Amino acid sequence: MKIILTVASLLVSCLVFAQVPFDTDKDALTIRSIFDTGLAKGDGYQWLHTLTKGIGGRLAGSPNGAAAIEYCRQMLDTISMVDTVFLQPVLVPHWERGEAEQVRIVNSAQIGTQDLHAFALGGSAATPQQGLVGEVIEVKSLADVQALGDKVKGKIIFFNRPMDPLQINTFNAYGNAVDQRASGPNECAKLGALAAVVRSMTLSLDEFPHTGGTRFEEGVKPIPAVAISTSDAELLSTLLSTAPQRIFIKTSCQRLADKLSYNVVAQINGTVEPDRIIVVGGHLDSWDVNEGAHDDGAGVVHSMEVLNIFSKMGIRPKHTIRCVLFANEENGLAGGKEYAKLALEKGEKHLVALESDSGGFTPRGFSIDGGDETTFLARYKRFKLLEAILSPYGIDFVSKEGSGADISPLRPQKVLLIGFRPDSQRYFDYHHAASDTFDKVNKRELLMGASAITSLIYLIDKYTL
Ligand SMILES: [Zn+2]
Repeated sequence: MKIILTVASLLVSCLVFAQVPFDTDKDALTIRSIFDTGLAKGDGYQWLHTLTKGIGGRLAGSPNGAAAIEYCRQMLDTISMVDTVFLQPVLVPHWERGEAEQVRIVNSAQIGTQDLHAFALGGSAATPQQGLVGEVIEVKSLADVQALGDKVKGKIIFFNRPMDPLQINTFNAYGNAVDQRASGPNECAKLGALAAVVRSMTLSLDEFPHTGGTRFEEGVKPIPAVAISTSDAELLSTLLSTAPQRIFIKTSCQRLADKLSYNVVAQINGTVEPDRIIVVGGHLDSWDVNEGAHDDGAGVVHSMEVLNIFSKMGIRPKHTIRCVLFANEENGLAGGKEYAKLALEKGEKHLVALESDSGGFTPRGFSIDGGDETTFLARYKRFKLLEAILSPYGIDFVSKEGSGADISPLRPQKVLLIGFRPDSQRYFDYHHAASDTFDKVNKRELLMGASAITSLIYLIDKYTL
């Protein structure tokens, strides 16, 4: 029975993803026109200017977050070929940073008292109003915390494992270090730590603290958790190598009741198979400490530009192309989860979902992930063939390295997931730091990215990839 089913499903998949040969010459001309349109007539840079300079940081549940939703809804509505723009209601966690955090080394035998550059992590608790002081224990991993056991009680645990500079793709370096920020404070809280301090997730050695989400398990009482700059982490570690250190922390963060927010959705209906949807998206929320330019204002305008370029070129897609600007990626993923839940409830069929959440840098490639295991390899091979078509634009790889957080809840529905992969070398200089501002985004690089994504979406639609 199992064999019959497997053969049957293989036959179905062959029919579904029938391998129409690529019309390479014609595609080359169309893709040239897509880049011409994107580079000469793209609106993404102006949209990004308003999102960053006009609105600013867009933390989920904040007034800025609501303003960004309304702004993007209106802009998507101006794209002539767009058939529908709508908002998907979603409840998002509402966390507020409160007053500027204070973190300092106090009465150090070597340097006396010195302020550190710090941001509270999203999800951090407040300290008592007068702040707290505790002795610091440096660790390199969550396993180190477990090994300390009872010794963690009443201490401030300092996570100081740097991102690995030898990784070529900086996202791998981030992925291998971020457990300290995402889960470290929770492990500390379970063992009775006073607070947690995390080395900022960046390869740069500088004074910018980088915030980010931290998660506490159900039933674990959150503790204050802050990120300090890499230069301060180096200093603290050096001091600890010769004498014990105490630090003072004062935060006034608050977790308030969940708030109503929205995913912003706009689509151009397909002419041949309108029921099969191609999603292209990014997340509209950002941290409150910056303008959310690369993370993920760039991905938002990339996604809007796909509909814009199709519209400007008068390309009517065969499948429905849907731009989704997700709510609340940074501190909860509520928007992505709600989108997938509604898709399942409505029985929507997605051909692919693509996310741009790696910054507005020069486009380099795409990564393919998820999908149905019986068809994945065949589809992946077809995508690999696109490298030749896209390489004149500097996009020369299709890999199998993940996709995007907001689209990941579609994985159980076996949707093929795609991540846009721009050059990664500078992304973590700005990620979640005050320096992620409009001026860090290069107009040409941004529009090249939008054109690259539009080209891939065009080919996916044309060949039902
Ligand atoms: Zn992001």
